Amino acid sequence: MRQIAIVGSGPAGYYTAEAAVKLWGEDVHVDIFDSLPVPFGLIRSGVAPDHQSIKGVSRRYEATAKAENVRFIGNVTVGSDVTVGELRDLYDAVILATGAPSDRQLGLAGEDLGNVFGSAAFVGWYNGHPNFAGLDPALSHDTAVIIGNGNVALDVARILAKSQDELAGSDIVAHALTALQGSAVRRIVILGRRGPHQIAMTPKELGELGQLSRACPRVDPADLPPVDEDQALEPGVRKSVMHLRAFAEAASCPEKGIEIEFDFFASPVAILGQDGRVEAVEVERTRLENGRAVGTGETYRIAAGLLVTCIGYQTSPIPDVPYDEKNGRFANDEGRIAPGLYCVGWARRGPTGTIGTNRPDGFSIIEKVAEDIAEGAVKPGRAGFETIAAERGIDFVKFTDWQRIDEAEIANARTGSPREKFVHVDHMIGALGRE
Ligand SMILES: Cc1cc2nc3c(=O)[nH]c(=O)nc-3n(C[C@H](O)[C@H](O)[C@H](O)COP(=O)(O)OP(=O)(O)OC[C@H]3O[C@@H](n4cnc5c(N)ncnc54)[C@H](O)[C@@H]3O)c2cc1C
Repeated sequence: MRQIAIVGSGPAGYYTAEAAVKLWGEDVHVDIFDSLPVPFGLIRSGVAPDHQSIKGVSRRYEATAKAENVRFIGNVTVGSDVTVGELRDLYDAVILATGAPSDRQLGLAGEDLGNVFGSAAFVGWYNGHPNFAGLDPALSHDTAVIIGNGNVALDVARILAKSQDELAGSDIVAHALTALQGSAVRRIVILGRRGPHQIAMTPKELGELGQLSRACPRVDPADLPPVDEDQALEPGVRKSVMHLRAFAEAASCPEKGIEIEFDFFASPVAILGQDGRVEAVEVERTRLENGRAVGTGETYRIAAGLLVTCIGYQTSPIPDVPYDEKNGRFANDEGRIAPGLYCVGWARRGPTGTIGTNRPDGFSIIEKVAEDIAEGAVKPGRAGFETIAAERGIDFVKFTDWQRIDEAEIANARTGSPREKFVHVDHMIGALGRE
């Protein structure tokens, strides 16, 4: 019997479990640890609350989670509640699928000012991640600046711009819905160091900005390259650029109330504030040289009361696991870290690709584990973990417990919404009748 521990219950964790069960059938036990009492990683706490069809992928993971030989062990942080070394003693293979939950830093003066947030924090706030439930961003200024030209920047802009009616069918948490209801934000500026041809925004997400009831996307036509240059673009990017061209051509629509302004060739150089809070962003105009943004020396200021950086993520280090500082992920050779220790998903490759990209990743890491542990030694696996948990009083959560939390969240939903999430670990555990 092979004993496999997967650390992290996001897409990478569940695809890896699925691959292990497909390969070994009943000859494997898979334990999936997560620091939260609720599974599915960024499907729950990253994917936008108004994109419910994407969140539906978790149903696929449920099929794996319900297999007899797969167990969810939530509310256990690997690295503090139990060490990686202990898990390596207990399991034939330990596979880290811990994602990339920390924001990359801009490295600018003023980044620590109040109301400046990374997207992990800001998205975590509106999606109810317990670590960010208390963020309490002030939405009292008329201008918000978002830094980054990927889909996360679009998610943040869209959530700031949507009306209460447009958010009704989402599972945005109550504290965020209430804050957005009182929001004074009327101008959302999306800064990108490079130009329209260099965006990492996908057509569907970009197109959504053109359909909002009370917001209007604006692009300066002068930022767009000559239209015949679009032919050289990869088809997805070309479609996205077509949306930007449509936004540039559209008549302005001040009657809608909110403008979402794309400011291309714009590199933030400082964040300015007073009394500990952001008041403006200083920006340098750039131009492209061999595909790279180069400062022109021309600067200007955007007065803003909220700044959200959407510039990427890094894996959080875990004691005794080699870490690749440059790339912000575990040091690994195609997923192998050390004998019996592996990584997969964002923890292996960094924050790139879609949810589906993690599936081949999961299957490929199980192939490597299979090469390395042909038979599996006689290791205690889950029984060994249970002994440690009993000794330390670790109150872990099983998948059936999560199903009860899930039911309670669904029962608590406001009209039209699929669920009202618990945003504090205590409340999740409380829903199980435990303290
Ligand atoms: C804001 C945002 C929106 C996105 N929207 C989309 C989208 O619309 N479509 C799409 O295809 N992709 C989207 N993605 C990308 C997608 O979410 C990722 O590809 C995917 O979640 C990565 O999976 P993962 O399992 O590697 O990491 P994660 O999903 O982050 O899962 C990691 C898990 O590990 C757990 N964990 C971390 N550290 C520990 C520890 N020490 N001990 C125990 N558990 C731990 C975490 O609690 C978490 O559950 C989005 C990403 C973000 C950030």
